[in-house]
Amino acid sequence: MAQYYPKTGVCYDHAERSKIYMIYTFSCNAACDHCLVESSPKRRAKLDPATAKEILRLGAEHGKSFLDLSGGEAMLHPKEVMEVASAARDLGYYVCLNTNAYWARTPDRARGVVADLKAAGVQAIFPSASAYHLKYVPLERVMNARAACQELDVAYELNYFYSAETETDARIQREMDLENEVFFFDGLQTTGNSEETMGELKKLYTMRVPDDIDDCFSVHLGVNPHGHVVSTCNMNYTNAKFRDTPFFLGNFYEQPFEDILRAERESAVLQFLYDNPHPALHTMLREDDEVGEYYRQTFSERRYYSVIDYYIDVFRDERTMSRIDQLLPKPLASI
Ligand code: SF4
Repeated sequence: MAQYYPKTGVCYDHAERSKIYMIYTFSCNAACDHCLVESSPKRRAKLDPATAKEILRLGAEHGKSFLDLSGGEAMLHPKEVMEVASAARDLGYYVCLNTNAYWARTPDRARGVVADLKAAGVQAIFPSASAYHLKYVPLERVMNARAACQELDVAYELNYFYSAETETDARIQREMDLENEVFFFDGLQTTGNSEETMGELKKLYTMRVPDDIDDCFSVHLGVNPHGHVVSTCNMNYTNAKFRDTPFFLGNFYEQPFEDILRAERESAVLQFLYDNPHPALHTMLREDDEVGEYYRQTFSERRYYSVIDYYIDVFRDERTMSRIDQLLPKPLASI
């Protein structure tokens, strides 16, 4: 298997089954071309503190202990972020925040906001930078946020996105001195705000066969303002591609969140993926006596932008999925 993701950092220090990835709002003060959840100022849907805290309370009862607050731009609602973060901290969660860092207007302001977030229980901040973000958020703000995190001993990890604008990429990497920093990135997600840019990115990003796919640990429980509960942080605005696969667990506005958590615990596929990152499922199927030959013929040469897209393709293949159901033991909790 190829290894191209940095296998280090906060996300790697916590078990996949312990995580809640929470898209708090779809609204954003940016509208980046490549935005996976198609956020923009036009989007309005958001969670509210009471709902978020109830999700966290029930999650804690089911073993969740890691919160990644995300969006959209959650810091458009700083008081709510602080309230939800403190509730999570009090429930024993390790709390992280994804942000575009727009709020870090000056070094002083960045220090003040990071200090407030730390006091509210945020232990790690993941700002984003890319050529597409740069149209909305100056790079200085990301650097102000980085300096404040370093000064105040808050974990800082940069989410960097390779763009189709090579000169701007080079400028960001130079100005942020990224050669001397571990930064984090993902495979291409194929939804975004600009069809034209997504078309360019599809040509730029590498599609890989299952043997060559790396795993960046993106299989864990996610929730969003639509009420969707999807077991990957690659969840998007509609989540259409996840429906009718083991990733789509339900909608907490339509059924009790506790039932959804139970379904997650009883899902043999999810529990297997939580414990066994890629290529475990691929190896199991490739070497299986019953479907191995069919699987190799069907999937060996197919190419994917991400491990999640590979999983979805496998799950949608009826013959392979029914064999997965036979092969994977039922989790103990459901017996
Ligand atoms: S990528 Fe981040 S900053 Fe850009 S629009 Fe989406 S949520 Fe906002």
